[in-house]
Amino acid sequence: MSDIIQLLPDHVANQIAAGEVVQRPASVVKELLENAIDANANDIKLLVKDAGRTLIQVIDNGMGMSSNDAIKCFDRHATSKIKDAKDLFELQSKGFRGEALASIAAVAHVSLRTRKESDELGKEITIAGSEISKEEVVATPVGTSIAVKNLFFNIPARRNFLKSNNVEIKHIMEEFQRVALAHPDLCFSMYNNDNEVFHLEAGNLKQRIVAIFGKKMDERLVPINEQTDIISATGYITKSDFVKKRRGEQFFFVNQRFIKNGYLHHAILNAYEGLIPSGTHPSYFLFLEIPPDTIDINIHPTKTEIKFENEKAIYAIIRSTVKHSLGQYNVAPVLDFNRDASLDIPYDYQKKKTHSPTIEVDRSFNPFEAETKITSSSSSSPKTSSFGGFARPTNTKKEAWEELYVNLESDTAKVVHETPNEVEITIESEPQQVESNLFEEDIDTGKTIQIQKKYILSTIKSGMVYIHQQRAHARILYEDFLEKVQQQERASQQLLFPLQWQVNAMDKALIVEVIPTLEGLGFSFGATTDNGIEVTGVPTEIPESKGLETLEDILLGLQEDIPKENSHLHHIIAATMASTLCIKTGKKLDLIEQEDILNKLFICAEPTISPFGKPTFVSVDIDEINKKF
Ligand code: ADP
Ligand code: MG
Repeated sequence: MSDIIQLLPDHVANQIAAGEVVQRPASVVKELLENAIDANANDIKLLVKDAGRTLIQVIDNGMGMSSNDAIKCFDRHATSKIKDAKDLFELQSKGFRGEALASIAAVAHVSLRTRKESDELGKEITIAGSEISKEEVVATPVGTSIAVKNLFFNIPARRNFLKSNNVEIKHIMEEFQRVALAHPDLCFSMYNNDNEVFHLEAGNLKQRIVAIFGKKMDERLVPINEQTDIISATGYITKSDFVKKRRGEQFFFVNQRFIKNGYLHHAILNAYEGLIPSGTHPSYFLFLEIPPDTIDINIHPTKTEIKFENEKAIYAIIRSTVKHSLGQYNVAPVLDFNRDASLDIPYDYQKKKTHSPTIEVDRSFNPFEAETKITSSSSSSPKTSSFGGFARPTNTKKEAWEELYVNLESDTAKVVHETPNEVEITIESEPQQVESNLFEEDIDTGKTIQIQKKYILSTIKSGMVYIHQQRAHARILYEDFLEKVQQQERASQQLLFPLQWQVNAMDKALIVEVIPTLEGLGFSFGATTDNGIEVTGVPTEIPESKGLETLEDILLGLQEDIPKENSHLHHIIAATMASTLCIKTGKKLDLIEQEDILNKLFICAEPTISPFGKPTFVSVDIDEINKKF
């Protein structure tokens, strides 16, 4: 029998390798930026069109390539960065696998222009699907420009697999930010569809963080600085009173390479334990320097995972360093020599007293205990099966908080938000008919009573119903907003003094995409500036004072859950608006308000659940009451 094994042709092998290296436009961005850094560039430009589908171009002023290298760089396993296996243990460069350009050229149209300083003329190479189609001597500046067009042109399945532009550009910006944070001493800029999104001057780490994430970051950062025999840890963490509702800016770098490591992430969270409320997240920008021979970065083609020799010791060092820094800033201001004087704290802020974090320990918390059931066993209690699986222990805690609030005297003293990030957002269940004739006889004459400023109790035909005032009102508002946003029924109040909404570049890109939808609701916007967006009008339902808060919450909703299509976007906006504006637990309601909620809830299309999938009411059957006697 004849032999059947053969070597795959290069272009096929390259395409297979591309499957691992080039997963989406952001992977190309990462590889090209890293190559520019390895080439010692100090000014790097990224240009993107159509979220990278049409164009990704990186232009650097680095060392460039010789005429021969310009062709060789597209070969598989062609690298100038290592020569033999022992070099793997002394890596100083980002790249070393020699796969990126070969993989990218296998799945896109690539044109490369490059020149070394010592050469008078440079080289231009055009290559697509691993085939070189043009090779030319050209006049070009020192450095390298690589343009990647029509990504996945020869793999339609991959192309179709790409997510919306919103999602892809977010991934690209994330890669850009990671590289830019790891190299604050280099100048980076990014253009999206010809608009400059980032322009980052060379500076120190703190300036870089502020340039990317906005000025408000400046006052939130606490420096980290720890030198030990096995590692050095430097960077910044955020103060415990500036934690975020969503998992925000969390960056780990090892030898200036962004990595993901759940174990070390845990070390940081552990240091915050007792200082921040559960369900909130600190930001951190942590840089570890470790001797290259004690780590293995070769375990993943995109090199974002790393194995450490001394993982346990590193965990302990990180945890104690972070704890130490957090403790220190509470006692005395930390001297930070990287401070940028131009970003100094405003005068009135300087006068504010620092306050020590309060430690809150839930002594009754038992991680092994299942969540307390809040629905009764009644046959007509709301069915939430389609939302199964979202119940979390944090809810138990929140319920306890709410209990505290309801005993307060003042009407509006405390409110509790049901935030979108605590629960699953997708609402797919069929409208439920069960309650449609619930009040047939009693609704008009039925008396309501408010219990503990949290529930509205009313009698119904079959017994009693307890309505959760906050969730019920959120449901009512949600359906109302959803209709408005779908119908584009704008009813706007123009503001005499426009509001300045401060957002960073990444968030601005997210918002710009949804401005037409927000305008459909009644918001209106003026100029966008470096620091944010001007808000010139808000929907009539929203008091002017709540305008920015509502927009912030909508932004949070969008960050949590990037909309896949219009209906999803409408849902996020309506749900977050409802959650911001609804009547909260802890608010005393008069009889008219109680009845209003009761009546409006039961004409909703889906009265049984809040916009975030939690039960809005519980009913107790008369039979059940009878059984108790
Ligand atoms: P690796 O980075 O792992 O070596 P790549 O496929 O990314 O593999 O690049 C192959 C080689 O091409 C690099 O080793 C380097 O010599 C050269 N190269 C790539 N990009 C640039 C650039 N922007 N400037 C100079 N040389 C480059
Ligand atoms: Mg590379």
